[in-house]
Amino acid sequence: MTFKNLFPLMAISMVILSSCGSANKLATREATPSFPPFDQGGKTAIVAHRGFWNCSAAGFAQNSIASLREAQKHGFWGSECDIHLTSDNEVVVHHDRTIAGIDIQACKFAELAPFRLRNGESIPTLDGYLAQAEESDKTVLIIELKPHDNADREDKLVKLTLKAVKAHHLYSPDRVAFISFSKHICDVIAKECPEFTNQYLNGELSPAQLAADAINGLDYEDTVLLAAPNMIAAAHALGMSTNVWTVNKREDLEFFSGLGIGAITTNEPLLLRDLLDNKEYRK
Ligand code: MG
Repeated sequence: MTFKNLFPLMAISMVILSSCGSANKLATREATPSFPPFDQGGKTAIVAHRGFWNCSAAGFAQNSIASLREAQKHGFWGSECDIHLTSDNEVVVHHDRTIAGIDIQACKFAELAPFRLRNGESIPTLDGYLAQAEESDKTVLIIELKPHDNADREDKLVKLTLKAVKAHHLYSPDRVAFISFSKHICDVIAKECPEFTNQYLNGELSPAQLAADAINGLDYEDTVLLAAPNMIAAAHALGMSTNVWTVNKREDLEFFSGLGIGAITTNEPLLLRDLLDNKEYRK
């Protein structure tokens, strides 16, 4: 049974008011959330932040292929990763923009060759990471496209990411979701592939403002949503998918899992699994 069969998608029509010069024009757009919707049995998906949990553990390296493999071995529904574009257009998986003082977005891919992650791996390319992701048909990969210095570079990052996702047979809203702190990147994804879950991370826009720009998901930091948990219900009322990052404390995990949120991104997926008991959503 496919993900979509289990969870019929809620398509909503949104009226978008956009300005073009002095004239306003109306357009309609479909938003089709593809994370587990909020009203499907109260189940919540566990998303392993940067691939796995417990970032201080010996031998662990966030955003490594080994960490993704480990998350898959434990049967987690989703795994999150971060990507950048090098100056010679290689997409690489890494959290920080710099490594040993070198700006990943301004250097050539070959300049990253000397560097190793804590577990001895080279910095993964997106191609290598996706090759591991497609090893399990249960993995949903949440790809965070990092902001770049200008719109052209961000356009290029989106283009190459979609190309790589297609090349690895993962071009499906059942397998991949996109998140970003760059509103421009979210806007491009909403235009290029509106059927994919597309969540803006920055936290300053209301669900209605996101929906008006055809951003179909809400994924805000735990501190933002702890201060304004009503945003989750507001997003659900608009048919949006919901996620919260990064929730690591037991009491906060309990709080969010009780709100019917679609997914929780955490460094503590095993703890969340214990708390969710039979309310964990699995593909
Ligand atoms: Mg991230």
